[in-house]
Amino acid sequence: MVLEKYKQKRNFTATPEPSGDLKVAAERAKKAKPEQGLFFCVQKHLASHLHYDLRLEHNGVLLSWAVPKGPSLDPSTKRLAMAVEDHPIEYGTFEGVIPAGYGAGIVMLWDGGTWVPDVEDVDAALTKGDLKFTLKGYKLKGSWVLVRTKGKWAGGGDRSWLLIKHRDEWGGDVDITEFAPLSVKSEGDFADILAQDNPGIWISHRPAQGGEAGAMFKKIVERAIEMRSSSKSSEGSEGSKGSEGKRSKGSVGAKGAKRAGVVKSVKTVAKKKRVKRTA
Ligand code: MN
Repeated sequence: MVLEKYKQKRNFTATPEPSGDLKVAAERAKKAKPEQGLFFCVQKHLASHLHYDLRLEHNGVLLSWAVPKGPSLDPSTKRLAMAVEDHPIEYGTFEGVIPAGYGAGIVMLWDGGTWVPDVEDVDAALTKGDLKFTLKGYKLKGSWVLVRTKGKWAGGGDRSWLLIKHRDEWGGDVDITEFAPLSVKSEGDFADILAQDNPGIWISHRPAQGGEAGAMFKKIVERAIEMRSSSKSSEGSEGSKGSEGKRSKGSVGAKGAKRAGVVKSVKTVAKKKRVKRTA
């Protein structure tokens, strides 16, 4: 059944995540025109471990892979991507705090836009374990591939894939997760999302401090605050200081012309943010 695993794993009276409407999925599947672009997003998820969830719309739901190190724009850097359960299309705009249970932590909408499969038959490509596609996001663009590794990675079984950037004008050695760490929805970091989250949900669902879940969540909150202070004290933030710092390090150098688009798109995000912050 569509979204069965997604629903099994969650208690929708305790999580702010969307429950997944099967009618919405069916309607969405009917209207989809893959050649014109389908929805995609990457959600940065600070749970027991930080990871990036890549989600590609297909048949009205979001095919999902958890990428522990996040996407890399460098074609020589292959990133492990663990296939996880399909998510509802409504999940694609979700950003907030999951106070307890499966996936407890903070979800940030890190990138979003459209994707176009390079092949007509996505199901066949998935079965084959080789899906080539084009992304049109704020941070991720151009040609990519997901390749199944056939259990090469211990314990992964056939859930292990590799996410690889193809060589094109959108590739390069900019560390995109470090260069553009913030939300494309709220423009904030994890600590901002915590603070902005509906206080009602935050207080009423906050797990007891003594329990195992409570202890884990406390760690997540601490990590969110830690990540903020470390990004503010270094040049890693995508604010005005960040882009300058990266440039002086030479990452936008000789090969810069080819990467200009990437940098430009990230800079647009940064610029928007600066305008908002100074307004
Ligand atoms: Mn996740």
